[in-house]
Amino acid sequence: MSTTRETAFTITPKTDAISAAERAALLANPGFGRVFSDHMAVVTYTEGKGWHTPEIMPRQPLMLDPAASVLHYAQEIFEGMKAYRAPNGDALLFRPEANARRFRKSAERMAMAQLPEELFLDAVNQLVKLDAGWIPDPEVGTLYLRPFMIATETALGVKPSAEYKFIVIACAAGDYFSKDAGPVTVWVEERTVRASRGGTGEAKCGGNYAASLTAQQEAKANGCHQVLFLDANERKWIEEMGGMNVMAVMEDGTLKTPPLGGTILPGITRDSLLTLARDKGMTVKEEPYAIEQLYADAASGRLRELFACGTAAVVTPIGTLKSAEGDHLISGQTGEVTASLRKTLCDIQFGRAEDPHGWMHRVG
Ligand SMILES: *Cc1c(COP(=O)(O)O)cnc(C)c1O
Repeated sequence: MSTTRETAFTITPKTDAISAAERAALLANPGFGRVFSDHMAVVTYTEGKGWHTPEIMPRQPLMLDPAASVLHYAQEIFEGMKAYRAPNGDALLFRPEANARRFRKSAERMAMAQLPEELFLDAVNQLVKLDAGWIPDPEVGTLYLRPFMIATETALGVKPSAEYKFIVIACAAGDYFSKDAGPVTVWVEERTVRASRGGTGEAKCGGNYAASLTAQQEAKANGCHQVLFLDANERKWIEEMGGMNVMAVMEDGTLKTPPLGGTILPGITRDSLLTLARDKGMTVKEEPYAIEQLYADAASGRLRELFACGTAAVVTPIGTLKSAEGDHLISGQTGEVTASLRKTLCDIQFGRAEDPHGWMHRVG
C-alpha cells in the first residue's frame, strides 16, 4: 500500500460546510450522483505554459464562455473511480494509477493536452483527503470520484483547443444496483452501435455516452435496465454495455469476455476480475462471442452465468437478454461464480482482505 504526501495543490477549504449531522443524513441513503462532496480539484492548461494553478477549492459552478469548444465539438474525457472506507477508518483508492494512465490515453485519442499521471493522482488524493468525511460507511457505499477534462478555448474554429481544465468532483454512491436486487434484464441493441474500428470506443469520452442514449431509451421502453452492444461491422459479436464490460461463465468453468481491440473500453474492473479469476485457477479466455452462439449456449446450458462489470456497479448479474425477436433466459438468480468474484474484488477494495497484487492505495 503506498501513500502520497507532497502536493502541488493550493488548498482553499470551504468555510460554511454543512454540519456533521446534516451530512450523516445525506449519506444514509445517497443513491448515485446526487450527494456531492464539499470540494473540487481544478488544474488549468494553457498552450505554451502547460499545466498550471493546481487548486482544491469549494465546489462551485464553472464560468465558461458560450463559445468554449467543449460545448460545440465535445472535446471531453472522464474517469470513474471510488474511495473506499476500510475497517480501520482509512480511505482507500483502487488502482488509481490505472485510471491516470487511461485518462492520458483518452486525452491522446481526443487530441487533448495530456495530464501528467502524478498530477492526476495528486488531485484525487488531495480531494479525497479533504473530503474523507463524505465517504459513506462501507455497508452503505463509497465515494465516487469523477475526474474529467474539458476544452475551454473560446473558439468556434474546428481544431484542438489550446486551453483545458482538468477537474475532479466527488459524490457519495450507494450500491448502484442494490446488492441483493438479483439479475437485471438487458436489451440487445441491433439498430445502433456504440463504437466502430478506428472510432473512439476505447477512449472514455462523453461523446460515446451521448451516442448510446437512444439505445438506452429503447432498452427502458422494453423493460430493460441496460444495453448490450454488438460490433459495428456485422452486428454479430457481443462487445460491451453502455458503461460496463461483459463476461460469461461457461459450463466448464471458463471465464470468457470479448477481446479489447479498439472498440471496447479497457475496464479496470474487467482487468482485475480476469486476474482474480486466474488466481482462483479458472481458465480465462479473451475471445469473440457471437450473440447467436450465446443464445444457443444459454438454451443448452453451456452458458451458466453472464454479468456486467465496471467501477460504478462492480459486478451485476444478467438474468435475461431481450431483443426484438424475444427473450433469452440465462439465469433467474445470481450465479455462484459471479457472486464469488464480486465478493473477492469487494473484500480487496474495502480493505477487508489481503491485497496480493498491490492494488490498494491509502489516501493521506
Ligand atoms: C468506464 C467504462 C467501463 C468500465 O471501466 P472500469 O474501469 O471497470 O470502471 C466499461 N465500459 C465503458 C464504455 C466505460 O465507459
